[in-house]
Amino acid sequence: MEKIILTGDRPTGRLHIGHYVGSLKRRVELQNSGEFDKIYIMIADAQALTDNADNPEKVRQNVLEVALDYMACGLDPKKSTIFIQSQVPELCELTTFYLNLVTVSRLQRNPTVKSEIKMRDFEASIPAGFLTYPVSQAADITAFKATVVPAGEDQMPMVEQTREIVNRFNGIYGETLVEPQILLPENEACLRLPGTDGKAKMSKSLNNCIYLSDSEEEVRKKVMGMYTDPDHIKVSDPGKVEGNTVFTYLDAFSRPEHFEKYLPDYKDLDELKAHYMRGGLGDVKVKKFLNAVMQEELAPIRERRKELEQQIPEIYQMLREGCVAARAVAAETLKEVKDAMKINYFDDTALIEEQQAKYSEVQ
Ligand code: ATP
Ligand code: MG
Repeated sequence: MEKIILTGDRPTGRLHIGHYVGSLKRRVELQNSGEFDKIYIMIADAQALTDNADNPEKVRQNVLEVALDYMACGLDPKKSTIFIQSQVPELCELTTFYLNLVTVSRLQRNPTVKSEIKMRDFEASIPAGFLTYPVSQAADITAFKATVVPAGEDQMPMVEQTREIVNRFNGIYGETLVEPQILLPENEACLRLPGTDGKAKMSKSLNNCIYLSDSEEEVRKKVMGMYTDPDHIKVSDPGKVEGNTVFTYLDAFSRPEHFEKYLPDYKDLDELKAHYMRGGLGDVKVKKFLNAVMQEELAPIRERRKELEQQIPEIYQMLREGCVAARAVAAETLKEVKDAMKINYFDDTALIEEQQAKYSEVQ
């Protein structure tokens, strides 16, 4: 079986370092590993509209921002097909058929959707499209026969929902769709990177992000203002590293060579944590180190983005070609789906003859 990747992002803002450690960095590594037969990266504008129906301009603007962030991080349109969800209408058709294989109560139990509904104050007025977006995600994944979905932890329920739909579909209509696996980050801190405010998840909708396109100064300010241990008041106080965002980010980003370069008094992160917990290590020193580490990782992305920002027509052209290529693949799967469901009235000459024969016998 071919090894195929499908993953993507909602164009609700520029991409942040949560996306980067949760999925984007891995995608680029997988793309360059040459181990995959095909890689599809989707800018999920239709999904973004499920909770931004009143703000289509936001979605429209951010399609380009996300594409710029992708390419700045090293996604290469020669190796990966980058496309925009709404430009592949076959995905809507698949969604319509899959909706019949899912119950409303199953959708209401989805823990990620549940917490997103809370976060958006949707409780009394959930857009139907929002409640059902995991089904449209199943269409996105299966349309490309994806075997692997590299994503953060919040996507686990979505991939699980997709697997259920695949099993249900194949059980009723015969073996047609492929069951995907989620590929989570190996580093625990990257599963769900917290926001700079210490809130559970860095999220475009929560305003607690460090964006890949932030300037050096913006990154520095955000790092220096980050949430730490509220009880660590004096430098001499013993501090907590658990739930301390600065240390979570160091878990996600720092490597032993960073210590040698920027903080040679410590061998590695364990030593730094031990000192913090004992007391006698101030937040400012740790934050300055984190800033150095982050700047090293983000500087090349920022520079590459600056170059790409001068090539906007080429980026739209790349997206246009990606949409055409993606559409061709999705159309093939849709045909297989319709054949399996016997929604192929005009292609099936036997059907027409059978129907005629039925009436001819009656006469
Ligand atoms: P929105 O608030 O609009 O939902 P978002 O910031 O949650 O935006 P998505 O586009 O929903 O971003 O997520 C895109 C990908 O990035 C998914 O694979 C998701 O798991 C991953 N991701 C998003 N936020 C984080 C995070 N804080 N830590 C790790 N991975 C993340
Ligand atoms: Mg999200």
